[in-house]
Amino acid sequence: MREKFLSFSLPLVGQEEIDEVIEALRSGWLTAGPRTRQFEQEFRAAFQTPGALALNSCTAGLHVALKVLNIGPGDEVITTPMTFAASVNVIEHVGARPVLVDVEPDTLNIQPDAVERAITPATKAIIAVHYAGHPVELKALRAIADEYRLHLIEDAAHAVGAEFEGVPIGCNSNLTAFSFYATKNLTTGEGGMLTGPQELLDKARIISLHGMNREAWSRYAAGGKWSYDIVEPGFKYNMTDLQAALGLQQLRRFSRMQERRQEIVAAYNAAFAPHAAFITPSTRDHVRNAWHLYVLRMRPSELTIDRNQVIEEMTARNIGTSVHFIPIHMHSYYRNRYGYHPDDFPVAHTAYRNMMSLPLSPSMSDQDVADVIEAVLDIRSQFARRRMAA
Ligand SMILES: *Cc1c(COP(=O)(O)O)cnc(C)c1O
Repeated sequence: MREKFLSFSLPLVGQEEIDEVIEALRSGWLTAGPRTRQFEQEFRAAFQTPGALALNSCTAGLHVALKVLNIGPGDEVITTPMTFAASVNVIEHVGARPVLVDVEPDTLNIQPDAVERAITPATKAIIAVHYAGHPVELKALRAIADEYRLHLIEDAAHAVGAEFEGVPIGCNSNLTAFSFYATKNLTTGEGGMLTGPQELLDKARIISLHGMNREAWSRYAAGGKWSYDIVEPGFKYNMTDLQAALGLQQLRRFSRMQERRQEIVAAYNAAFAPHAAFITPSTRDHVRNAWHLYVLRMRPSELTIDRNQVIEEMTARNIGTSVHFIPIHMHSYYRNRYGYHPDDFPVAHTAYRNMMSLPLSPSMSDQDVADVIEAVLDIRSQFARRRMAA
């Protein structure tokens, strides 16, 4: 058994990131400035997005997206229970009503048919989450959005580098929010990027910086003017150049980091797929999975212990794990406000009860990967349900 605890998700930050942050500090420009603009341009070029707006989080991106689309009180937004609370909290922030629908059994992504059934005259938008880095069925959702004249917003917190039918996530006309939180595939510590059509991003840029009619940072550049106007009460959501410095260097190593994730996933799949006790994550043929998470599901009929006990056994073997996610409808705020029961979304609920996210990060060594596999297989052989011979 390993001696040192393996963190569930350690970011990979190298000397290049450290050097770039120090240069940013020495440059005298600490808040949103030239590095933030450069990061926007390079992100846009890397993932062929129509435009890019760097923000201080993905949550900010989703909030601003709802604001620029004028979604508010009286409106309904359809989304998934199998996500982090941020995707749904922002709907509450603008005063609209989140409408949850169940997920598909293989990918745990929102079910397009269930979306269509949930549409009412009050429905204004769909927030689709690319769960674990596996793209949603974008074509089917786009067709529904067009037919019912809804906005399609993508929560791409897990999906930097993912592709749908060969096209990068973010390379379309949907407002799409990426996350650069510490555990995400590309990190700036905290940070996010909103992509989409330039005219919507121009509005988003104003809303994300106090509702100021021009960029604050250019006020202090050579030839900048002191005057500005507040056109609406906006938010303080900008990225800083210190974060952008990290992001610029993370972009340079991004494809190598993604390759390492794929290698780890391949090793996990090879080790766990042969065992009836496990359901390994699957990837549909027409997508590229960004592999933000490796979510292993257990078949309760094959084990004598439940998921919570498996996690305890992993911890006892010095392996950090997590659960993605406690479905939205099981959190007290949403349960109390909308009267949900756990079984309202049976696919999400059952998956939740049997799932465990294993460590997955390009910072992991081959030994780390071997340790995780050994721990999981050891638990399986210790707690496999044995059947009587017929
Ligand atoms: C991490 C995450 C977010 C929030 O990202 P932040 O950058 O921390 O705001 C939103 N949605 C999902 C699905 C996430 O996993």
